[in-house]
Amino acid sequence: MKFTRRDFIRNSFLVGSSLIFSSSSPALPKKEEPWRPAYEKLEREGKFEQRVKQAYALFENCHLCPRRCGVNREKGERGFCRAPLKVVTFSAHPHFGEEISLVGQHGSGTIFFSNCNLRCIFCQNWPIAHEGRGQEYEDEELAEMMLKLQKIGCHNINLVTPTHVMPNILNATRIALKKGLRLPLMYNTSGYERLEMLKILDGVVDIYKPDMKYMDSDKAAKYSAGASDYPEVTKKAIIEMNRQVGILRTDKQGIALRGVIIRHLVMPNRVAGTEKFVKWVAQALPKSTYVNIMPQYRVEYKAYEHPEIARGITVQEFLEAMEWAEKNGLTNLDPNSVAVRNFYRSRQ
Ligand code: SF4
Repeated sequence: MKFTRRDFIRNSFLVGSSLIFSSSSPALPKKEEPWRPAYEKLEREGKFEQRVKQAYALFENCHLCPRRCGVNREKGERGFCRAPLKVVTFSAHPHFGEEISLVGQHGSGTIFFSNCNLRCIFCQNWPIAHEGRGQEYEDEELAEMMLKLQKIGCHNINLVTPTHVMPNILNATRIALKKGLRLPLMYNTSGYERLEMLKILDGVVDIYKPDMKYMDSDKAAKYSAGASDYPEVTKKAIIEMNRQVGILRTDKQGIALRGVIIRHLVMPNRVAGTEKFVKWVAQALPKSTYVNIMPQYRVEYKAYEHPEIARGITVQEFLEAMEWAEKNGLTNLDPNSVAVRNFYRSRQ
């Protein structure tokens, strides 16, 4: 086809117009990067497999938690937690009783692990935590549970009492990742964690939800099977968790993506040391740390045998706990607890 001078002029004009048009039009908004879980990045960096191996090696001489039993779980020996080598779970389902930002519309994808390394005498889940009720699963099956929770729309994978099965969790998460898991991974723990183990979890866990049960070692020893080091160990653990994932962040819908949520159960007769706890948070962590001061203590399991904790808390005990938190400048208290506080205040 013949290319005439007229064609040349017309084409030049069109090209010029488009250049003028593109340079004078407003810049398109940058496409927002889709949110990705921490463990996906770790896999892309080629570091996840090594973490799984490092964690699994700990079973030979189990020092997974501060109890440091030293048993060989590979050979079937059991330590303080009574956990076998394979993971034992009691249930896996959407849970609607967690903090609002975890529950959203479709629930928190909660996997309850059986057995426990702390074993408190007021445990609300004692048949699962103390007696180990549940069923053994392969890591591949645990991965399938995670994927199923994702498929039904849960907003996160909520690993309840994970400490003694941390290697299985890592392995299962990696298997699930390869099959499409993309939910935030939440480590929902008593807080009784070794720093060395948390370093293995760095870059794997998106949300840490530790308890801070007591601030006094004599209370911890009395009510949590001799764990007198609980306050010191847990304080260090929470500081490390905060270093890894920081203040809780949510998406536009208010769903939690990454960060720390600290839970503190108010106990009767100031057993939990709530005033010391909020002071410590205010000094050691950002004041905007998400703190859930919980009023729902119930007399469970063997708590009936200890008069000091053999009753629920009073309204006054809950209100003084919330007042201490406010007085110490904590700015990110759980909205449900704030609503309960406001309700009781309105009745005074
Ligand atoms: S995880 Fe269990 S066996 Fe291992 S150190 Fe802790 S209590 Fe002992």
